[in-house]
Amino acid sequence: MAESNTKPKFAFYWAASCGGCEITVTELGMRLVDAGDLVDIVFWPCAMDFKYEDVEAMADGEIDFCFFNGAIRTSENEDLAKLLRRKSKVLVAFGSCAHEGCIPGLANLYDAESILERVYNTVPSLDESRGTRPVPLSKVPEGEIHIPSFYDQVKTLAQTVDVDYFMPGCPPVVDQVWNVFQLILSGQLPPKGSVIGADAKTNCDVCPRQKVQSGMRIKEFKRPHEVELDPDLCFLAQGVICYGPATRAGCGLPCIQGNMPCRGCYGPPEGVVDQGAKLLSAIAALIDTDEPEELQSIMDSIVDLVGTCYRFSLADSILSELKYKKR
Ligand code: SF4
Ligand code: SF4
Repeated sequence: MAESNTKPKFAFYWAASCGGCEITVTELGMRLVDAGDLVDIVFWPCAMDFKYEDVEAMADGEIDFCFFNGAIRTSENEDLAKLLRRKSKVLVAFGSCAHEGCIPGLANLYDAESILERVYNTVPSLDESRGTRPVPLSKVPEGEIHIPSFYDQVKTLAQTVDVDYFMPGCPPVVDQVWNVFQLILSGQLPPKGSVIGADAKTNCDVCPRQKVQSGMRIKEFKRPHEVELDPDLCFLAQGVICYGPATRAGCGLPCIQGNMPCRGCYGPPEGVVDQGAKLLSAIAALIDTDEPEELQSIMDSIVDLVGTCYRFSLADSILSELKYKKR
């Protein structure tokens, strides 16, 4: 085993996310023990008792590589993104939240005030605490309590600091995490800005299901539980929305193998700027009508159009760019 002070220093941080990325790393199992031999873990607050002051005390660039998972939702998330950027040679946006905003990014449909109003005032499950809001600064007899500010906009990591590499997935699949880990340790990294731990193709390119036949048209979209799904036939051919045409390959298709459509967590494939727009374009190509009313009725059969098309990428979409540019 190498001496601790000769090993690359590794950090892993969790901002606005669900914790699934951290769980994926723990699923490395015994490989995590190997990883512990190969690197010196200098910051992983979810798993070990590190303090922010420990990172602040490091020299700039002292951390060799940092996996940063989670979107930027609060002032704490932003402060840590900036701190870890400064202290890390290689910063990886790890998982869909850091890469594209993911589920937290869907909150960009609302502003901070309407979210706080809903959570602290009008949610039916509230008790007598209704109307009590957290505030950034509270004065108590013992002193002052500061909590992070809640921002109006959820941002991706790259919308906040300079990012070296992007590792997609909600969460990234465990074998890809291990591949990326080894890739970084080998020093054979692709050009800065590349997506790592995934492929350039789409999920449709690698999907074994019988594809949509040319000329096939859809009159109604259904949700997976409303159809007895044929496990060998493309979901789109069965009128069920599958994100395969707009999603980067590399996950190994666990959802499709489980007879559930892809939901797009690996982000857009090479050359696609807006994943939701790409999916909409694939859906539009399957719709068979010139009648505006029938078109409306077919589109109405898609439940939660924004959540369907931008489940993982709203914060990183052209829609978000336009919305926040106007301010
Ligand atoms: S749309 Fe989904 S089911 Fe159909 S080929 Fe693509 S990945 Fe496979
Ligand atoms: S099939 Fe789609 S949703 Fe499922 S893991 Fe792969 S990219 Fe993510």
